[in-house]
Amino acid sequence: MAQIIDGKAISQAIKDEVKQEVESLSGQGITVTLAVIQVGDNPASTVYVNNKKKACAYTGIRSLSWHLPEDTRQEELLALIGELNGRADVNGILVQLPLPAHIDEDAVIDAISPAKDVDGFHPRSVGALCIGKPGFLPCTPAGIIELLKRSGIEIAGRECVMIGRSNIVGKPMALLLLRENGTVTVAHSRTDKLKEVAGRADILIVATGRAKMITADYVKPGASVIDVGMDRDENNKLCGDVDYESVSRIAGAITPVPGGVGPMTIAMLMKNCLQAARMQAEGGREA
Ligand code: NDP
Repeated sequence: MAQIIDGKAISQAIKDEVKQEVESLSGQGITVTLAVIQVGDNPASTVYVNNKKKACAYTGIRSLSWHLPEDTRQEELLALIGELNGRADVNGILVQLPLPAHIDEDAVIDAISPAKDVDGFHPRSVGALCIGKPGFLPCTPAGIIELLKRSGIEIAGRECVMIGRSNIVGKPMALLLLRENGTVTVAHSRTDKLKEVAGRADILIVATGRAKMITADYVKPGASVIDVGMDRDENNKLCGDVDYESVSRIAGAITPVPGGVGPMTIAMLMKNCLQAARMQAEGGREA
């Protein structure tokens, strides 16, 4: 049976590290602060926002929140972001996605100051990642690198296959694996012979949004398998993109769903808030 990569325990360790550092900044008179904006009442968004606020409370990060009505105009949202960009007591700004259809998400992401872009979605943060400059890393892929490192899984020189090429998971994940000296392949819905491609992986990362699509016949025995998916199975039970039951029998290591990648995303958000506060304290430089 595979080693189970315990995202709950690893994310807890990261939150405890952040908590200590937040305390130490507090001793220097710096209150790490995250502004969280939700527009509308998407129930999943409400759960995510609440979980982020809970993590802030745990780590000692002050969270300020704005819950705007569904019919908020884009200009109103942009004006709020502009105000928060200018506030010296706000270190990070998070706008919970998705936004209502009448609001242009790209325009909203672009409006957030790159120095406060704790989600790592601003084109400047993405560009920095692409050319290997310092900047905020998107939380889910950054969390996966932490999971691998803290589980003792070597990335350098290994065959890494990323299935999925979204802007928030697949593409930045591929860049981060490359930064860690992995040999990286990105597969997607148009990839030919996906089983063969996936079967080459020492590290297989799956973010397709297709419940349990990766079965044991996609996986090289002994591979490390990271399941990003958050799907529902035929009984409406939370599951991943990987068929845990069959894959855990042949993989060397595997993340469960829930309790794998999910908790890491929020822990890394807390880390990014800390990074934002530090950078701003060091003289207003951007991250
Ligand atoms: P997207 O829908 O944006 O992207 C899915 C990707 O998977 C696309 O690149 C698509 O290819 C590819 N794909 C879809 N079907 C197949 C297939 N049959 N074979 C090969 N590739 C396929 O999803 P996200 O990246 O946003 O999310 C993926 C999953 O991860 C979801 O379940 C989501 O809920 C979860 N998630 C979890 C997070 C966490 O914190 N745990 C955070 C973010 C996401 P193509 O580009 O060709 O269409």
